[in-house]
Amino acid sequence: MFILSISFREEIKDLQAYKPGKPIEDVKREYGLNKVVKLASNENPLGCSPKVKDVIAKALDNLAIYPDGNATQLKEKLASKLGVDVTEILPSSGSDEMIDMISKAYINKNDEIIMADITFPRYIQTTKMMGGTPVIVPLKNFTFDLDGIVEKITNKTKIIWICNPNNPTGTMITEKEFVDFLDKVPSNVLVVSDEAYREYVTREDYPHDTIKLLKKYSNLLIMRTFSKAYGLAGIRVAYTIGDKEILESINKIRGPFNVNSLAQIAAITAIDDQDFLKKSYDCNLEGKNYLYDEFKKINLEYVPSETNHIFVNVEKNGQEVFVEMQKRGVIIRPMGGNYIRVSIGTMEENKLFIEKLHEVL
Ligand SMILES: *Cc1c(COP(=O)(O)O)cnc(C)c1O
Repeated sequence: MFILSISFREEIKDLQAYKPGKPIEDVKREYGLNKVVKLASNENPLGCSPKVKDVIAKALDNLAIYPDGNATQLKEKLASKLGVDVTEILPSSGSDEMIDMISKAYINKNDEIIMADITFPRYIQTTKMMGGTPVIVPLKNFTFDLDGIVEKITNKTKIIWICNPNNPTGTMITEKEFVDFLDKVPSNVLVVSDEAYREYVTREDYPHDTIKLLKKYSNLLIMRTFSKAYGLAGIRVAYTIGDKEILESINKIRGPFNVNSLAQIAAITAIDDQDFLKKSYDCNLEGKNYLYDEFKKINLEYVPSETNHIFVNVEKNGQEVFVEMQKRGVIIRPMGGNYIRVSIGTMEENKLFIEKLHEVL
């Protein structure tokens, strides 16, 4: 038989597909467990706002209709909430899609894209996909090394990815550090501030209001999502705030109906439910303090976190700890070497995690 070989773009040759963790049902079956707790993907253990469930239920009658491709109501809602113009907002199907679109719109072959070594993996994946050159600046003390990043800027630099607070280490950079950094970045270099965990931050010196920085730094893009504190990871909705010309350029390569109709209505509703957000924040803080105390009791080194997950040195191979924990019905994320990342769950889940961790260690 004649086999036709269809060649794909050379840039994707060495890329690997995202490997999701095992679904809960598979883990249950494989190890004969009744109960499995997943603390691996930084999901909200409280679910989402009950108001969102109500509006989605009502919207189910309209599934035959295409979504509003411009997400007009969502943009208007966000614009009035955030005090910006509708042209300065672009919703997306999760921040994942936005990272993809930014890379597609801006990265030429051999452009240099600066990022940390231990950070969100989509930045390097999309850089390679576009034939860009990843320039990796190691974290310093588990935190973004902004001086190290500035030193790496050349005339080939196109984008700098800043994850603040950072996934997976949970560390943050302060407003002062961020502004000093922006002052040193040339205006033709795009700086993306990925703020996926901003709602969980406890520290006052965090740049809680990066929007006010946009006036001075038009090369800044601010990426926020409904997937974490709002508990809507499954419906895929996020938004980016920034200069209208930058967003227009990204808008050119956006799929016409990228944010589905349920996602649009969910986001419009979720943004107003401050009570739910407060509950999520409180639950996270309580769980975090409990886990810190338990780690201290068994002398485990952890990185203080401004997010809903904790980076822990388990003093044992993280992959092995992951496998042993999974056998016992708790799914966490191995992070290379002796590190694991655990998402903060409900108190019941956190206690189960600690109980099983004692057994494994
Ligand atoms: C979870 C996460 C995202 C992805 O969010 P979606 O909006 O669900 O695509 C983006 N950035 C970071 C750092 C994350 O941890």
